[in-house]
Amino acid sequence: MDVIDPHIHMVSRTTDDYMKLALGGIHTITEPAFWAGFDRRSVESFHDYFHQLTVVEPARAARFGVRHYCWLGLNSKEAENLSLAEKVIGIIPEYLDRPTVLGLGEIGLNKNSRNEIKVLEQQIALAASRNELILIHTPHLEDKLKGTRLILDMILNEPRISPSRVLIDHAEEHTIPEIKSKGFWYGLTLYPHSKGSPERAVDAVEIYGPENVCINSSADWSVSDPLATLKTANEMRRRGHSEELIQRVFYENPKFFLSQCPKFNK
Ligand SMILES: [Zn+2]
Repeated sequence: MDVIDPHIHMVSRTTDDYMKLALGGIHTITEPAFWAGFDRRSVESFHDYFHQLTVVEPARAARFGVRHYCWLGLNSKEAENLSLAEKVIGIIPEYLDRPTVLGLGEIGLNKNSRNEIKVLEQQIALAASRNELILIHTPHLEDKLKGTRLILDMILNEPRISPSRVLIDHAEEHTIPEIKSKGFWYGLTLYPHSKGSPERAVDAVEIYGPENVCINSSADWSVSDPLATLKTANEMRRRGHSEELIQRVFYENPKFFLSQCPKFNK
């Protein structure tokens, strides 16, 4: 079985993880730019991070037979320092034409603050001006529905962006119908020890259908599981779903969405 994990933060993972991905059939991954777990202090840190995402990590992945693509952007957790945010958004275009960059991501909202909205607006405008794909982070917990609606409205108000070229990630049961009905793709994230279990993700696929969904591990520097997609595929198999359907959810769907960027080659 061939699997694409469209959201995984490999700069935080070990080479053992790369070997496990390759052996498990996860031969293609995409890594959105993320918060490092602490706020970076200068734009130079972002030059280094974008270099790591576009040069160092694809080479590290290739040693294990894994294709590595990335997304560039400023995470909402680092949006409160507006002068730094402006500088970071200013350097992103220098890196967007690199051969493994798929678009802007993960950008979005965390606490739905005024500064977060301002920084997201600037990044949506940048994506629109260059016709880039977008990968969106939606807030967790009680801010999720409100934040998701704010984000959908901001994108729908930008006529140059087609919702079919935007993946709204970390969706949950109470946000999926609205995301889907407006023509966006949505992501289900598998978080160990919290709510996004393989069982819950398969329930969602059964309820809402296999259209426009991508399932991801979102594995990063915290407690997380780079093999979560495989465990969820196995849960589908255990419930009697066909190999065709499993292949569609874990391979054909992300391949279709990501192929909208001409640089993506399986
Ligand atoms: Zn992430």
